[in-house]
Amino acid sequence: MKVSLLGVEIDALGMEETVERVAGLINSGRPHRILTINPEFLYQAQFEERIMKLAQKADLITPDGIGIVWACRLAGFPVKERITGTDLMLRLVERASPEGWRVYLLGGAPGVAEEAAKKLQLQYPGLNLAGTHHGYFKDNEEELLVKKIKELKPHLLFVALGAPKQELWIDQHIQEIGTATAIGVGGSFDVVSGRVERAPRWVRRINLEWLYRLLKEPSRLRRQAILPLFAWLVIRKYGLRIS
Ligand code: UDP
Repeated sequence: MKVSLLGVEIDALGMEETVERVAGLINSGRPHRILTINPEFLYQAQFEERIMKLAQKADLITPDGIGIVWACRLAGFPVKERITGTDLMLRLVERASPEGWRVYLLGGAPGVAEEAAKKLQLQYPGLNLAGTHHGYFKDNEEELLVKKIKELKPHLLFVALGAPKQELWIDQHIQEIGTATAIGVGGSFDVVSGRVERAPRWVRRINLEWLYRLLKEPSRLRRQAILPLFAWLVIRKYGLRIS
């Protein structure tokens, strides 16, 4: 089922169904884009045509963040759970070994994607890792990088450049790369590599991961300042009914 929220069609699926849908996209062998959408992205899409286009072109959009889950409920369309980039990435990597999918990690500071890959290989020994590259390449290095990724024919391409940079990058290069299903995963490599600590499970369960991240990284306050504006947009459009 799709939920229409502020002009974007969000796939209201649980984690199991999401993984199945992505597996279908990967196994088709054609390029696909997965977007895990958070309130900041959806808010920006209201004012920037190129960001809205990214959402419209996505093959699957997951509700990333409690703000999106809340907004969908208010709009009268309950979604089952939030599906974050990190959680989806881990579930797909787990599935990658038995399926034989080649996985490429692009993004993060130099060394982080390699560290994340090592951790994933330890956890999933059969993992077929196509390659890794950091996310601080120069414009004139991009063409060669894309060519290299294309030659490695990954089935799954995780791009961790932060939103919306990663979605813009995927949009620009996914057709040329050809076979891959690409997903923007933000700071996930930092978490998987162990450089950044994720909120404890109980904090995530009570939907306060955003507050935990804010306390750990106060510089996120500027980004999170958008949240009340996003809430206001949602309430103005859908009212305050509870489904
Ligand atoms: N990053 C990158 N290249 C850039 C800018 C950022 O590889 O030019 C990486 C950065 O090192 C970090 C991730 O992108 O690992 C962004 O993490 P953040 O938690 O801000 O992601 P978001 O919350 O936007 O999804």
